[in-house]
Amino acid sequence: MVIAVYPGSFDPATYGHLDVIRRASVSFDKIIVGVLHNSAKSPLFSVEERVNILEKVTKDISNVEVKPFEGLSVNFARENHAHVIVRGLRAVTDFEYELQMAQTNRVLAPDIDTVFMTTSLEYAYLSSTIMKEVASFGGDLSKFAPPEIIEAVKWKMHKEK
Ligand code: ADP
Repeated sequence: MVIAVYPGSFDPATYGHLDVIRRASVSFDKIIVGVLHNSAKSPLFSVEERVNILEKVTKDISNVEVKPFEGLSVNFARENHAHVIVRGLRAVTDFEYELQMAQTNRVLAPDIDTVFMTTSLEYAYLSSTIMKEVASFGGDLSKFAPPEIIEAVKWKMHKEK
């Protein structure tokens, strides 16, 4: 059984993340999405909210599990008996950072490999940050994320005003 973890902030998840999860769920027996609790960042959604959102929008994919985590991705992978870390690659701008992370993780944990899924072209521009920026100006979010996530973003931004 090949288990992969897909760590990230997912603040909140977008169609780009969901595309990676869906495609990875075909290639691996199990995908554990790791939602990072990073005390240095102040996310829009709490880690529990981000986990709940992801659980809702992935409930139709039977081999996907969502868990919060803190600290190093390689430790999260080990705790979950995974030998693969999945990351998404959008453009060359992602590449340098992702390569450095993958190489660092290889030094820390040579038994764990990073596998990159290149983004589907229609989501190449998309990030949680861009979605939040458009949301903050009241723009149409329907191309960025499923309705459950759009509702959550609108609710949260309304509450924070
Ligand atoms: P992080 O803060 O760890 O980069 P993100 O939630 O921004 O967390 O991203 C998690 C992973 O998903 C990263 O590997 C990122 O490159 C990937 N990703 C984000 N948006 C997209 C997208 N539109 N298409 C493909 N991969 C994406």
